[in-house]
Amino acid sequence: MSKLVIANFKMNGSKDFIESWIKDFLAEQESANSIIVALPSPYLQTFSDRDLTLSGQNVSNEDSGAFTSQLSAGMLKDCGAKYCLIGHSEARHFLMETNEIIKQKFDQLKKESLQPILCIGEPLKIKEASKTTDYLTKQLDLIDSDQENLIIAYEPIWTIGTGLVPEIKEIQLAIDSIRCKFHKPIKVLYGGSVNSSNVIRISDKTDIDGLLIGGASLNPKEFAKIAQLC
Ligand code: PEP
Repeated sequence: MSKLVIANFKMNGSKDFIESWIKDFLAEQESANSIIVALPSPYLQTFSDRDLTLSGQNVSNEDSGAFTSQLSAGMLKDCGAKYCLIGHSEARHFLMETNEIIKQKFDQLKKESLQPILCIGEPLKIKEASKTTDYLTKQLDLIDSDQENLIIAYEPIWTIGTGLVPEIKEIQLAIDSIRCKFHKPIKVLYGGSVNSSNVIRISDKTDIDGLLIGGASLNPKEFAKIAQLC
């Protein structure tokens, strides 16, 4: 079955960089998987006419008003985004986002018919204390267990940008614990230091529905290879 492969550019790139990334990526891209690119928001509109599905990287939990620096779900939609990441560990950390705020963001996206990609994952301390399952369950507590079309990205915080990847059985255990919270079929992605050398092992030995790729996605050839091998 086709998988979702998402590039998260984070705060990287420029207009020229993205222009040449798209050219190189489309020239290499042969995968039947669905590709989504989470660009920094100023570039969404610029590249909305390209042959790519775009995602925002975050959204406000409010509709509109005196929230200087924030972007509403309606604005992201206007700029061509179809998806939006929420709850990424970097946003949780730097912007001090709580599970309550993230649930409000989820609702804002749904209201505008944008698809949320809800990121969850445990810090190292929690993994070392063998409390991952409880931690993930808590991050999902506010999401209705009958929710349709959920996409959850499981990203252990200690693997993001570190080159570390959990044991396959740890990934599968986390995915199972996420799936069993919900009554409907959901998509669960894995993210954290995925590259073209480890993607086959992760994707063949677990039942993940796709991948969220940070650092490795900035290289268009590498990202195309990951999407091909996934
Ligand atoms: C991410 O930030 O979502 C991520 C998966 O990053 P990286 O692939 O660089 O670990």
